[in-house]
Amino acid sequence: MISKYETVIGLEVHVQLTTDTKIFCGCSTRFGEAPNSQTCPVCLGLPGALPVLNRKVVDFAILTGLATNCSIAPRSIFARKNYFYPDLPKGYQISQYELPICEHGRLDIETEEGGPKSIGITRIHMEEDAGKSMHGETPETVNSSLVDLNRACTPLLEIVSEPDMRSADEAIAYLKKLHQIVVYLGVCDGSMEQGSFRCDANVSVRPHGQARFGTRAEIKNINSFRFIKQAIEYEVERQVELIEDGGHVVQETRLFDPDTGMTRSMRGKEEAHDYRYFPDPDLVPLVIKEDWIERVRTRMPELPEAKMERFMRDYGIPAYDAEVLTADRPLAEYYDACVKLHGGGKICANWVMGEVTRGLNEQGIAIADCPVTPEMLAGMLKRIDDNTISGKIAKKVFDAMWSTGKDADTIIEEQGLKQVTDTGAIEAMVDEILAANPDQVEEFRGGKEKVLGFFVGQVMKASKGKANPGMVNELLRKKLQD
Ligand SMILES: [Zn+2]
Repeated sequence: MISKYETVIGLEVHVQLTTDTKIFCGCSTRFGEAPNSQTCPVCLGLPGALPVLNRKVVDFAILTGLATNCSIAPRSIFARKNYFYPDLPKGYQISQYELPICEHGRLDIETEEGGPKSIGITRIHMEEDAGKSMHGETPETVNSSLVDLNRACTPLLEIVSEPDMRSADEAIAYLKKLHQIVVYLGVCDGSMEQGSFRCDANVSVRPHGQARFGTRAEIKNINSFRFIKQAIEYEVERQVELIEDGGHVVQETRLFDPDTGMTRSMRGKEEAHDYRYFPDPDLVPLVIKEDWIERVRTRMPELPEAKMERFMRDYGIPAYDAEVLTADRPLAEYYDACVKLHGGGKICANWVMGEVTRGLNEQGIAIADCPVTPEMLAGMLKRIDDNTISGKIAKKVFDAMWSTGKDADTIIEEQGLKQVTDTGAIEAMVDEILAANPDQVEEFRGGKEKVLGFFVGQVMKASKGKANPGMVNELLRKKLQD
């Protein structure tokens, strides 16, 4: 039944910016402070207080616009969006309406079935966040509602996509890409739990081949990728069933309930004219000249896609490795530093994706707090290259670097882990092992080549793992074939 219909999805993403201060006043944006401690007459909406635009918010908007292929408007306007809510003291939100700062962008995603696809970005505009209402969240306030205005006037970018996505999977691919970009740019901390990156989804269905869009429902504030997928899939099924049963979809705002996996009606969808938008007379039009844009452009970091291509091209690693290593900017920078110090693209990738990532996951720490620096890892890899230690002993050295913070050379020295490459010493151990295991020697000479592995293991054990495995192999073969 669902296959008769095509899904149409457009997304509105709210990105909370990482500026130290709010968009129209100097109050701090720090999260988790005592209620109403980060406020002033401007963000409390006291009469007569005047907003002053935070320049850094404009820088971040331009940066985000450039990274998503938007054109930057030479002149944009702030508008008042009027509605009443206890957490909105002024009775309006300062936003942008007719002339937003960025327009006509796009983001390329990879789809499961159809390869690459371009998703249009209609606009990006700047706005202030509202405060927060709390309804009996603490024992003392169980029968009351309180308002915390610390979040009021916190800077947001609203990034609005075209209705270009045709499945929940495409919507997720777009969101993950956008999330990765704003975090790479450093304009957002990316925390979905704290609401720094939140998404509303406009979902509709229409019979395949119909040009006109179906009536859409807007699903509000869904705070994880998994929930967004669930919410969209539930909503598509609900709308198709409704239409098949002879009903019709009404335009409304719906809420997703993570406990039931369902969406439910919250309120009729308001139209733009319900908000009585008009230009904010307290803020002059924002004029952005070319040199401002160019100044911001010079601060553009290498974006994930370009980084991935460079790692594959210059460091010779496979696409899978490059994707894992560029998922997160600090991890990519760690890897990049290792390769620059050591030179081996693939061996560094193996260690970063292997031991380093495992250690971080085990201890639940971020790469920024990794006790083994790129210098330490590269230094250790050089000791494998020059045969000071084997790859196996390297794991032991790595663990010791992790727990002590000492470099590889110090640990090799202190723990006597230097590989035995002296032919005479290895030969003596080989002779000893062969003499102690005459039966296995016979087996090998009788054609059972597998026994070689047993001998290698015995010699390595006798050397406490320090014998050079290549030399052990070679000497064993020579002696057994004598
Ligand atoms: Zn303030």
